[in-house]
Amino acid sequence: MSSGKHVCVIGAGIVGASSAYALARQGWRVTLVDAHSVPGEGVSKANGAQLSYSYVEPLATPTALRSLPAWLLSADSPLRWRPRAEIDHGRWLMSFVQACNWPRVQQTTAALLSLSSLSRDTLHGWLDALPAEQRRALHHERPGKLVVYRKPPAREQVARQLQWQAELGCVQRLVEADECRTLEPALAVTGGGPISFGVWTDSEEVIDAAGLTRALAQASGAQMVLGRRVASLDTRPGQGVVAAVLEDGNRVEADHFVIAAGPQAGDLLRPLGVRLPIEPIKGYSVTLPVVDAAAAPRVSITDTGRKLVHARLGAQLRVAGFAELCGSDTRIDPRRIEALCRAVEQTFPGACDLTAPSPWAGLRPATPSGRPLIGATPQRNLWLNVGHGALGLTLAAGSAMLLGEAMQHGAPSLQAQPFCYV
Ligand SMILES: Cc1cc2nc3c(=O)[nH]c(=O)nc-3n(C[C@H](O)[C@H](O)[C@H](O)COP(=O)(O)OP(=O)(O)OC[C@H]3O[C@@H](n4cnc5c(N)ncnc54)[C@H](O)[C@@H]3O)c2cc1C
Repeated sequence: MSSGKHVCVIGAGIVGASSAYALARQGWRVTLVDAHSVPGEGVSKANGAQLSYSYVEPLATPTALRSLPAWLLSADSPLRWRPRAEIDHGRWLMSFVQACNWPRVQQTTAALLSLSSLSRDTLHGWLDALPAEQRRALHHERPGKLVVYRKPPAREQVARQLQWQAELGCVQRLVEADECRTLEPALAVTGGGPISFGVWTDSEEVIDAAGLTRALAQASGAQMVLGRRVASLDTRPGQGVVAAVLEDGNRVEADHFVIAAGPQAGDLLRPLGVRLPIEPIKGYSVTLPVVDAAAAPRVSITDTGRKLVHARLGAQLRVAGFAELCGSDTRIDPRRIEALCRAVEQTFPGACDLTAPSPWAGLRPATPSGRPLIGATPQRNLWLNVGHGALGLTLAAGSAMLLGEAMQHGAPSLQAQPFCYV
């Protein structure tokens, strides 16, 4: 127990809400602060909804590096990059390129698989503790995930990856095109080119990220300071951070501070000399009402050709994808939404009402290597839980546990060491 010490968690996305929940269960008195008036309105709002416990390979791979020129030159590419004359952007790109080698990819994948496994066990425990009605509203299901490949050349590489991941405890199997259609009958009439093969992972789950964030924030019992942006952190020599200073001049004083501010985390820390290697990578989703249940997928489908994920959330289908390195602009490009709707109609014709899409865009807080930053900073009472990139929903519960352990013992556990900033 932490003898009732007071911690201020800045950021009430899935990572901050999970941190608040884990710390409150350890005995901390928690204050949760967010600029939005409701938890889960940042990038945790309408993401791909995948609890993607077995698919944690980072973006930075030699294959991605080789594909970059073709992606950047293609008009309908899933990737967009607007170069910026900013030192941090240049540094991030250089570190990204350095991370694109197989030994680094394997180290990162192994560390993330261990964290995702902790996350799954932790989240299951947390969900069991929620009232049944609240839990039902989260659409938490285990439909399994089918990753569909339409180009055969990837097959050998995919088989090698599956074999390696099997050694780390991931149960997945390569399935032929016919079995893809058996596992998900809605694929029987799919467009977008013939299916070559697929990878089936029985254990993958889905959940409504915004609903989960709100539920954990509420269940943490934290004092909420919502609709208030933290403008700066007040530090004193020898004492570390003494207060989070709000935009209106009010202060939240506490013994410890956790930065869980997602893609905006760097803004708060830069004045303290802490430079986070986090690049906002914009992605989009549409959520569509399902009008023909038999034509819509029940299992989660990842279409590797289009780089899109599909998740069924109750009576809705969520489709998400795209990666744009274009700064912190969260405006929605209608062409991206049209492309998502078109892809749904091609892949699952007649499944959804395309006249009523709920469009969304958010910024993945991405580190170059794909590893989040969890634990201590050079300030004695300032902690990080940031940089979860494309996997924040999946990794939030485990990350909160590692953070809690580090704060309790003053040192990271062995499992947390790959994610340390200092
Ligand atoms: C298109 C897309 C699809 C995705 N799909 C998946 C998926 O299927 N599975 C998965 O695991 N992950 C997915 N992700 C990634 C996932 O959404 C993120 O990693 C995760 O939501 C990050 O959570 P967070 O709490 O760090 O950030 P956020 O949710 O953005 O929370 C940060 C909070 O901090 C607050 N804040 C920031 N600065 C301040 C300040 N100065 N004062 C007060 N408050 C502040 C913000 O208002 C915000 O609420 C996807 C992302 C995108 C874009």
